Amino acid sequence: MSQVWLPSLKNNSLAFSVRVGGSDMFNRFHVKDTVTIDLREIAHINVDRESQTARIGGGVIISDLLRVLDEHGMVAPHPIISSVGFVGWATHGGYGLLSSEYGMGAEQILQAKIVGADGAVRDADEDMLTVIRGGGGALGVIVELTVRVYPLTQLLAGFIVYDSEDLPMTIRRYNDAYRQQKEAGIPKELNLFQSVTNGPIGKAMGVIFVWASSDFDAGQKWLSIVSSWSPVAMSTVAPTTMSVFNESTKTIAPQSAYGKSLTLSLRELTPEVVEIICKHASFQPNSPATIFGMHELRGCAPQPPLNTLIAHRHPHFVMELLPTVRDPDLLDAAVAWAHEFYEDLMKTDPANIMASTYLPLTEPGKVNMKGIFGDKYEFLKVMKHRHDPDNVFKHALVRL
Ligand SMILES: Cc1cc2nc3c(=O)[nH]c(=O)nc-3n(C[C@H](O)[C@H](O)[C@H](O)COP(=O)(O)OP(=O)(O)OC[C@H]3O[C@@H](n4cnc5c(N)ncnc54)[C@H](O)[C@@H]3O)c2cc1C
Repeated sequence: MSQVWLPSLKNNSLAFSVRVGGSDMFNRFHVKDTVTIDLREIAHINVDRESQTARIGGGVIISDLLRVLDEHGMVAPHPIISSVGFVGWATHGGYGLLSSEYGMGAEQILQAKIVGADGAVRDADEDMLTVIRGGGGALGVIVELTVRVYPLTQLLAGFIVYDSEDLPMTIRRYNDAYRQQKEAGIPKELNLFQSVTNGPIGKAMGVIFVWASSDFDAGQKWLSIVSSWSPVAMSTVAPTTMSVFNESTKTIAPQSAYGKSLTLSLRELTPEVVEIICKHASFQPNSPATIFGMHELRGCAPQPPLNTLIAHRHPHFVMELLPTVRDPDLLDAAVAWAHEFYEDLMKTDPANIMASTYLPLTEPGKVNMKGIFGDKYEFLKVMKHRHDPDNVFKHALVRL
């Protein structure tokens, strides 16, 4: 099919964008006056337990992937929210709740089938794979990835919401304890995603707790430790499967909302940074869709010997400021909150702020491709010139 559609779009000078989960924060899956190629029908998932790999169609959505993997007693690193597309997540880096144990999404990619600028489907060679591991659809439309998957039938997972009557105090207390615990050591099986959300008990600080191991005795011990970092108001942590738990994350993010994201990446959550978070958490609008959260890539995250475009592989935190709202009348206030928060974070120790930001969440006006790809930027440019000299894939997120 691809041999037909791509030349025909090119011959008619029709530009196009690619859509799967439709989760891009800046709607880049849909570009005015262009054709949108929706890949969601390329939805095959073939799991090979023996080689611990899975072939995943270019249009697969996370909830479907995790359900099929569950049936095989397997898991794979994935984003928190179930409606996100797997390829769009994995090929732009991919932070998730299993990163500490298995690494980033892009580091799971072993093979790829790609529709190149000439319209032919081909297996990506090693150099193309390097670009696909971080550069998304810069070289073509990805119709299939072969990725690593891991045996895991049960885990302990859920939401811990801390008593947040004094929200700054809660955030401070949690992060002091977390910093100390990190120095003492945190096992790779434990993954935490810290956030401030407007949930059932009002605005509160909480964590997503994932113990990715069937050693529940050790998991319960770590649950007690994390629960002791500040008084707990509510906890849903229980034995579950990844697929079932992932479905429950639907309650965090709205199906649709107005807004955008602001992001920056920091090497450490220093006391200075935590104070800024405390200050702006107090002002965070009370709209249920407005969220502040942070992914963490810990030092223990294994790094397979694969070439990638990821320049920011040392430990860091990705700040996600999401001034998203369901009621458009509330948008200006939410955006103002996020901008002030962002500006204050940018005034903290410059040595702690990374040049690289997480591309999918970076505002188009703030994208610095050289900063994002660091010393891999030149290689990306060479590869783009070699495989897509006419810039057929100009609406990919990587734009040179
Ligand atoms: C609610 C929400 C939760 C998120 N959670 C996380 C998270 O936990 N961790 C994290 O790292 N990121 C997260 N993200 C960011 C997300 O991973 C990226 O925005 C990702 O690119 C979305 O892919 P998609 O298919 O869902 O979205 P789309 O908007 O459909 O795709 C985004 C872009 O990716 C490219 N693309 C997608 N699929 C293909 C393909 N098969 N071939 C070629 N190009 C393709 C296209 O350029 C497309 O425009 C989240 C985003 C949202 C909105």
